Order: sequence, then C-alpha cells, then structure tokens
Amino acid sequence: MERNDWPRVLLAWFDVNRRDLPWRESKPRNPYHVWISEIMLQQTRTEAVKPYFSAWMERFPTISDVAAADEAEVLHAWQGLGYYSRARNIHKAAQVIAEQYGGVMPRDPEAIRALPGIGDYTAGAVASIAYGEKRPAVDGNVLRVYARLYAVREDILKSAGRKCITKLAEETIPGDRPGDFNEALMDLGAEVCIPKHPRCAACPLRAFCEASRLGIEAELPVRTKKKPQTEWQAACAIVERDGRFLLHRRPPKGMLANMWEFPMALAPEAEESRTALEKLLGGRVGELRWTLTHVFTHRIWHMRAYDMETAGAPSGEDWRWFTREELRQIPLAGPHARLAAIV
Ligand code: SF4
Repeated sequence: MERNDWPRVLLAWFDVNRRDLPWRESKPRNPYHVWISEIMLQQTRTEAVKPYFSAWMERFPTISDVAAADEAEVLHAWQGLGYYSRARNIHKAAQVIAEQYGGVMPRDPEAIRALPGIGDYTAGAVASIAYGEKRPAVDGNVLRVYARLYAVREDILKSAGRKCITKLAEETIPGDRPGDFNEALMDLGAEVCIPKHPRCAACPLRAFCEASRLGIEAELPVRTKKKPQTEWQAACAIVERDGRFLLHRRPPKGMLANMWEFPMALAPEAEESRTALEKLLGGRVGELRWTLTHVFTHRIWHMRAYDMETAGAPSGEDWRWFTREELRQIPLAGPHARLAAIV
C-alpha cells in the first residue's frame, strides 16, 4: 500500500467502528444538529454532551426556535456546560440564520464561518458533514492524529503548527466522503489515537504512522505549557427572606456575563473573602452550609457558602430576590446552580 492510501483505510475502519451518537442519527445529516453538538463538544466529554444535546433539541427543535427564544432561556438550557458566551453566540447566530437564511443553515462554508461563534473548525465540520463540502475540521484531536501520522514536531498550540497540519488535512481529505473522513478522524482521536497512551496495536493506520515507526508517539504532539490557573477563595452568602433568596446579576461583559449568582466575594485568602462579603452585604456570616471547588479553564474557585442575615442588602436592578422555584428557571452562573440546588 502507498503512503497516501491511509484515508481509504481510515474510512473502511470507520464504516465498521463508527460511534453511534444522538447527533449522528438524522439522515440526511441535519446541519443544526451538527452545529450544536460540535459547540457542546468543545465544552465537555462526548458522554456528558449526550443528555444536554437531547434536552436542547427537545426544547429547541429547530434553529428558528432558538432564534425566537429569550437569551435567558437559551442560557438556562446551556447551564452546566460553562463558557456561556458560546450559548449567547448560538442565540445570535440563530437569529442571523432566521433573518437572512429563512431559518436554514447556509451551505456555503464562508457564510457558515461568518456566523457569530463559528470558527474554522465548526464551519468545516458543518459544511463537510451536513453538506458534503470538501473542508477539513481541525480540532485538538485531529491535530494530535496528524502530528503523529506525519511526525510533525511543530508546536500545535502555535499558529505555524496549526497551519502545517491544516495544510496536510486539506491535501488528504477525500473529495467523495469528506464528512465521513472528518468524523473518522474524530473517532480515531477519541478511541484509538488518544492523548496519553495511544493504542497503536489496535490502530488501523499503524502501517502509515511515522511517529509509531520512530517510536515517538508518546512525545507528540508538541504543546507549550499552559499558564497556571489562578486560585481564589470565594465566600458566598445564602440570604433568605420570606422564602426568597438574594441574588446578584454579574456584569454584562467578562466571565459568566449577565448570569445570576449568590452574593459572592473573591480574595486570595479565605478570611479576606469573608470580610469582603460582610462588607458587601453589611452583616456577619453565619453557619457554613456548603463547600465546592470549581475548576474553570484559567482559574479555580474554592467556594464556601454561609447563611447570612443582612439589614441593608444592596439594591438596584442587578440585585433581586428569587423564590426557590424561580431559582430553577433563571440562568445561574456556573457552580451557583449547584448551590441553588441545596438551599
Ligand atoms: S499508530 Fe499510534 S500514534 Fe499512529 S495514528 Fe495510530 S494510534 Fe496514533
């Protein structure tokens, strides 16, 4: 077999081993399903995405349903997945699709790429899988597989490394089954050419793999070290009055923008965060009710929630009292949804 036969071999493997996933069920493939699943998969593991995807499609069966919904409803459906800007962008993109394309995802890859929140990867995935366009979809999995197959030693987190691999992907994607090819790479990266200990003995591409031949598969891909996460102590208050709880809406820009949270103060030390919370609410913290360590991409919150009474709670439109029932319906900022579940 020739070196450039590997895409055919990969497709034959995929025909037998493809993963059954809820977003792969529609025939022909529904571009809306591909889009939403790909954005969700950027957030978490495939298994964790399945229930979110099914619940989302039940709530918003079409792109027009997303476009017609309130932003708060969209954020609520996204709750628990993190990175809420992605949900906001889905909402904005759905409105563009409803207004400019009659509620149907455009077919042209450039038009897909121009939608809010859609980058090269998602545009490539939607265009190839749903519409059969010859477009690569290069994400972390695909970078890893190509870096190993071709023994690419460039750093895949730098643009030169990504460019080099995108070029290889453009050169190798077959014109007759581009969507299957992209999904086959995703499946190979998820099941066989996995990050730490690639399963080369079970790999259909072993005969073509340069890294395996050189015995350097564990060293690839090359990635620069990420910045360390910053750690914060987060003191939170459970302030209840007549069956309602005091919450604060986060600012419209930045992390967890516009989402509701229990009153919270962040500081490097626990004592400092408690003092800042007492100052914010004009009261003293009471019994410790709940603790949680929540890990975001770039920071960690060590959260402690206290019962608290306050004489002069802050007011203004970003401070509101909610019943328990309402707490289940509003968009809550990340781990604050976990806190809401115990009050
Ligand atoms: S042979 Fe090993 S390193 Fe190469 S593609 Fe297959 S699993 Fe990855």
